[in-house]
Amino acid sequence: MSQIDTLPPLRSVIASHGLSARKSLGQNFLLDLNLTAKIARHVSTLSESDVLEIGPGPGGLTRGLLAEGARRVLAIEKDSRCIPALQEIAAAYEGRLTVIEGDALEVDPLAHLSQPIQIAANLPYNIGTELLVRWLTPPAWPPFWDSLTLMFQREVAERIVARPGSKAYGRLALLAQWRCDAAIVLSLPPEAFTPPPKVSSAVVHLKALPAPRFEANAKTLERVVARAFNQRRKMLRAALKGLAPDLEDRLIAAGIKPTERAETVGLEQFCALARALDS
Ligand code: SAM
Repeated sequence: MSQIDTLPPLRSVIASHGLSARKSLGQNFLLDLNLTAKIARHVSTLSESDVLEIGPGPGGLTRGLLAEGARRVLAIEKDSRCIPALQEIAAAYEGRLTVIEGDALEVDPLAHLSQPIQIAANLPYNIGTELLVRWLTPPAWPPFWDSLTLMFQREVAERIVARPGSKAYGRLALLAQWRCDAAIVLSLPPEAFTPPPKVSSAVVHLKALPAPRFEANAKTLERVVARAFNQRRKMLRAALKGLAPDLEDRLIAAGIKPTERAETVGLEQFCALARALDS
């Protein structure tokens, strides 16, 4: 196996720093540096970008990003045990890695980053969806980041790229696809991780579009989509009841049959409905 850098193998790093994986922190580590370098190669314009990495752990993906040429990496890690191991990487890649010990849900990374910014992470599964939704619903668009390259459980990855009519189609697909190009770029079996999780994983690449695919007010669209999929088996005239007194007329104005269910309605129609509700 080819070496991507001169630092010790990740198994030695884990042994010397006592980094036994903790389930409570969603720790399933990637120890194959060729694999982490492969993931890093999916990050858009890596060598011209600052990269925000959430949950670097012992630093497998961090090393992949740096070895593949990231301009700078800002890594936010909650587990204090990992910080000394990450500082060793920072010393080897002088001036290119900043490590912050903290909770990614609390830390504001922007003060430490310069544009263009890409986000890359093998996300802790317990906060992965919450972070993704935050990144997809900023107060203004375009967001602070250009692209997201994120590892998820396969089932979550499928929800992000899902099309109408499929079981996976829902709020996450609509939020992601309204303002991004989204694709699964890599699939990984449980054995790729230490310890192996129960399910397969996949890397999703999301590229922010300069403007939303279809016009709509973000808050209205989010509210409609959340309501529609909260009761996905119900007809929309029932699931969205109370959103407007003349709801059925507005559904028809948006080209949606009031008897349709959310799972068959496409993004363009949901945007038309958001506009009809705001008009
Ligand atoms: N990136 C490493 C890799 O690929 O081997 C580790 C990935 S592991 C799935 C998730 C990492 O996120 C762990 O290192 C864990 O400690 C960290 N983590 C969990 N919750 C976090 C949070 N709220 N903020 C920052 N890091 C967190």
